[in-house]
Parts: sequence; C-alpha cells; structure tokens
Amino acid sequence: MAASLVFRLHDRGPELVREVLLERGWEEYNEGEREEEDWNLYWRGSSFQTSQYHNLLPWQRLNHHPKTVGITRKDCLARNLRRMKATFGSALYDFSPTTFILPNDYTCFLAEYNRLRLARGTSVYWIVKPVDLSRGRGIFIFEDIKDLVYDCSVVIQRYISSSLLISGYKFDLRIYVCVKSFHPLTVYIHQEGLVRFATEKFNLSSLHNLYAHLTNTSINKFGPFYKTEKGRVGRGCKWTMSKFRHFLHSQQINELLLWQRINNIVTLTLLAIATSVPSCPNCVELFGFDILIDAKFKPWLLEVNYSPALTLDCQADISVKKKLVSDVIDMMNYTLTDSLRDRAYRKHRYKQPCFKANHPSAPVLSTLNHQKKKRGNNSSHTQILPLLKTSHQPEKTKRGKLKQRDLEANYQRCLPPVELSKMREARCRIINTSAIKVHTNQTPNPILGQDSRTNESALNRQSRQHLVSYLMNNGSLYRSDVTNHDNTETEAERQCSGETDVSSLIPDTQESEEAFTRPAASWKLPNIYSTKPVRITAEKTTGNGQHIPPVKVGDFIRTFPFNRATLKASQHELDIRTVLQEIQSLTGQLVLGKGHKMKSRREEKVTADKDADTDFDSLLWGPKDPPLISQCFKST
Ligand code: ADP
Repeated sequence: MAASLVFRLHDRGPELVREVLLERGWEEYNEGEREEEDWNLYWRGSSFQTSQYHNLLPWQRLNHHPKTVGITRKDCLARNLRRMKATFGSALYDFSPTTFILPNDYTCFLAEYNRLRLARGTSVYWIVKPVDLSRGRGIFIFEDIKDLVYDCSVVIQRYISSSLLISGYKFDLRIYVCVKSFHPLTVYIHQEGLVRFATEKFNLSSLHNLYAHLTNTSINKFGPFYKTEKGRVGRGCKWTMSKFRHFLHSQQINELLLWQRINNIVTLTLLAIATSVPSCPNCVELFGFDILIDAKFKPWLLEVNYSPALTLDCQADISVKKKLVSDVIDMMNYTLTDSLRDRAYRKHRYKQPCFKANHPSAPVLSTLNHQKKKRGNNSSHTQILPLLKTSHQPEKTKRGKLKQRDLEANYQRCLPPVELSKMREARCRIINTSAIKVHTNQTPNPILGQDSRTNESALNRQSRQHLVSYLMNNGSLYRSDVTNHDNTETEAERQCSGETDVSSLIPDTQESEEAFTRPAASWKLPNIYSTKPVRITAEKTTGNGQHIPPVKVGDFIRTFPFNRATLKASQHELDIRTVLQEIQSLTGQLVLGKGHKMKSRREEKVTADKDADTDFDSLLWGPKDPPLISQCFKST
C-alpha cells in the first residue's frame, strides 16, 4: 500500500504496539519482503546497538534513547542518585530509600545497619533486589542481618515499612514518563497510569509473604486472593490513576503537592543522566517510574523500568495502556515526509526499467546500495529519483488499491528530488542536531484527514496543498491508504498539529508545471520536536526564538521544561543548578498551599495573564483537569 508507515517489532512484540499501529494504518515490517532499513519505527524491549543509532535515517524512529541504563538498572540508579545527592545536596534528592550495592558496599551497609539498630527503638527492615532482574524476581525482605544471603550483585535498600495502605493493602504507582528528547531535556508524564496492589494484607510479621509486600502484577496475579474482593481495592490488583485520584479526594491532603513531588522525582532522576545521554533526536522513550507513597504521603522512587510492561492483564490495563501507546506514537510526530521517505526508499529496490529510462541520472539499485555502504563520503552529488510528471494513471484493483506494478511506477513519479549528498548529510545530522524551523500555520491534516491522530505537522499550508493535489492527481496517494483514524479522539487531541518545515521536500515542479516554490536544495530533516501546543496557545517560540514543546500530546503533559527559566537552562549546556532552584521554588509555593487557592480561583475565569510567562505556560501534571501553572500562583 502506498504511503503506509512501517513498524518493526523485535521478537514479535509487544502485541499491543502491533495492535495500535495496525489500527492506525501502519504496516508491519517483514524481513523477507523489505530491505533492512525500510521501516519508520523500530520498537525493541531490549536496547539497540550503537551502530543502529548511527545508521538512523531521517524518517526512522527508535523507542529507546541510547545509554539510559544509568537510571534503569538498579545499581546504576543508586550510584547516579548518590552522586546527585553529593553534588547538589539532599534537600531535593531525598526521594530514594537509602541503598547499598553489594558486594562492593558491604562494609558501608554494615555500618549503617548497626547504627540504625542502636539508634532506633523501632525495627528497621531491608529489601534485597538483584541488580539486573525485574518483576519481583529474586527479591526478599529481612530484618536481621543473619537472613541476608546473596549470590549475585544486589542492591540492598531501606524497606519503606510505613507505606500508605488502602483497606490494609500495600500499593505503588506506575507512572508513565515519555522523554521526547534529552537535548534539550523534554519530558512528558501521562495523565493515566496504574496503581498496583499487593493481594494480601500488609503485615510486618510475615516478611516472607511476597503477596503482602510486593506489588508486582507478575507475582500477585498468581496469588490465592487475586480474584477475591479485597475491601476498597476490589478484585484483581490494579486501579487506574483516575480511580486513585478519586481516592485522594477523600483524603485531607495537599493533593497538588503530592503530584508535584512525584513530578519532581521524575525530573530529578532524569537530570542524573541527561548530560551523559548522547543526542538522538529521532528517539522517543517511554519509562515506567515506580513510586511508593508512605503513610505521610511522601512519594519514594523504587525503580525506573526500561521497557514498562505493555501486556493487558485486566480492564485497568486495557483502559490505560492502549491510549498510552497511541500517545507515544503521537509523540514521535510522524509526518507525511516520513511516508514519502519510505516510498523513496522502496523504489530503489524495484529497479524499474522505466525508472532508468526516464531518469538517466538516477542510479540503479546496485549503485545506490554501493553508495549506501559508503555513507559519509561527501564526494558524490548524484541526484537520485528526480521527479517526473506523467499522464499514466495507475490501475486500481477491485478494493481500490493500486496494482503493484503501478505502485512501483508511481513511486518514482512522486518522489521528491533528493540528493545522495543531502541524505548523507541528514544521516549525520540526525544524531547531532535538534529541531529546525517552525511554522505557525494551523491547518488540518489533509492527507490523513481531520480525524487523524497522527500529526502531519510537517507541511506549511501552501506547499501541503500543492503536494496533496499533486499526489492525488498522479494517483499515487489515496486517503484509504494512509488513514490513521481513531474514533475516540477528543477535540483537544484533534487540534494537536505540529508543523515542521519540510516544504522543500515537495517536488520542485518548475520542471513539472506545478507551482512548488521550494527548491530541492533546501531539503531539511523532519523536525520531530515541533508539534503544536494543544489547547493552550498558538505561540510556539519565545521572543528570542527558542522552541517551546507542546504543553500536551494526547494525555501526556509536558513536565519539563515547565517555565521560561527551565527552558533557558536546558537549551545549551544543561544548567542543573538553575533547574533545581526552579523546582524548589515551584514546590515551595505548593507547600505553602498556594496551589489550592489557585485551583478554586481557576473557575473564576481569570483574565488574560500579563506576566512574562504567558507565552510559555505549563500544566501542573497529576490532578484531574490539570491547572495552568501561571494561573496557579498569580493571585497569591
Ligand atoms: P522489580 O524490578 O523486581 O519489580 P522493584 O524495585 O520494583 O523491583 O521492587 C518490586 C516491589 O517490591 C515494588 O513494586 C514494591 O512493591 C516493593 N519494594 C521495592 N522496594 C521497596 C522499598 N524500598 N520499600 C518498600 N517496598 C519496596
């Protein structure tokens, strides 16, 4: 099918990603049928090799940033948070339970164990976790050091024995965090998430009962009480975050402060690796942050999951994860350009004689492959696939699809003129550069339709119209082939349309009679950062031209940068101290309860904000109907 985007799943999973993408009109990569690099998204549960990042093509995305192991492996996380605490103080970095990495830290652990035993009247408990296992495997809890046994590298952590309970059951929160970019740091947290319950009542006199002390679904779904009604928890072992919000309303607490503290944990944790992660603009990563709340409503970070489970075990999973995956795909900001790239790529494979006949300068596959192998050599400026306008109209099958031979013929007709040297340049820049140019036109997506969830985003109004009519006239693009409909889309989501300057990708039809104005020479990478802010403001750049990432993408709320100062602090060299000051300042206001005042005033229809930050506003992630930060504090 023409113009479909192609996804590639490692090891055939996760099934949910496949389902979501197929529903959106994508095609699955098939090794036998496609060339090695003929895909738009490669999704892996495990990490990619360095070479895979270096060989990324402009229209390709990966679901992991390089080198994020610094927070996703338990020992690395402990080390990095310890370093941040030592450098920036424990005022903010106080959200991780005291942790030691064994065997290396055994002496330090012993000293702390003895100190606490002597100093405290009450018991102290410890939890032991293998550093590179997940899903509760190999975990145990102990009070007396004689019960400490380990035969691999483990972290040993203060056990939070005063966790907040619901009907006597322990729980933790699975927070979904999407890092759109590390350079500049751009973070989103999903409004939905999961609450994961233990399935037996919390009881410190039975430390061996994992159903009472661990909240992993992988463990609790096999527990004897999984299907039993468990007081307010109900059956099963999961709630959605929405249900948890209802619970919070019944508690007399500063709810905004709790959400903000969780938000801080996410930012502060990411800051620990932000400067060491190489820049790769075409990566977008979903992390699962596990947060435990104690009886004083203080949130603690337990761990960060590299590939949070996307399996559907229960109704809560279904209502949360499907939308989540869809929003992650939206975050990747695929554009029409990406599918054009795909077709450009595919064409090279077919070696159509007419292609060669029509375009003497176009290399045959063998030449192209040879040149692909030699990427980085700038000597050749061979132009490939110059655009040809032809009167040939493709034959359609009964189902309205183009016949393969016609498709192939059409690929060559609608390809933008791309120079190999430009492609090479693009490949180099994809690792090093961030976004390019932003237009402010707000137009619907003419290719994917009004209801499309995928941001077309890349084309300005004029050139897009030309492109669409050109492709339609040439029979090379049919709506049915590229539609990504989702009937559950909300109005706000529909408005989510970013724009990037790829107008130069549009064929230069001075040669082909159509009025395309941009020359091929100004070809640029698609900018995956520039989606249009939803609901908030049409403003997309600050006065001095800094790009402002959208405040919301689907149900993802931008949590960093959250104001002008943090935007500035993250633009070039990440200025961590300034970021910490801003976090402290925002949290300080919430501690004083100012956020509460604001929340009620929100309904009073506050007049237009004259503050300097009006062109850069953020939502306070967490509560239902998250308020604008500017409206939170301005009246206090
Ligand atoms: P895994 O990667 O194996 O899931 P976690 O660190 O998430 O490892 O721990 C598994 C579960 O153990 C958590 O979901 C939580 O219920 C419990 N847990 C982990 N660390 C602590 C802690 N320090 N205090 C209390 N409970 C903890």
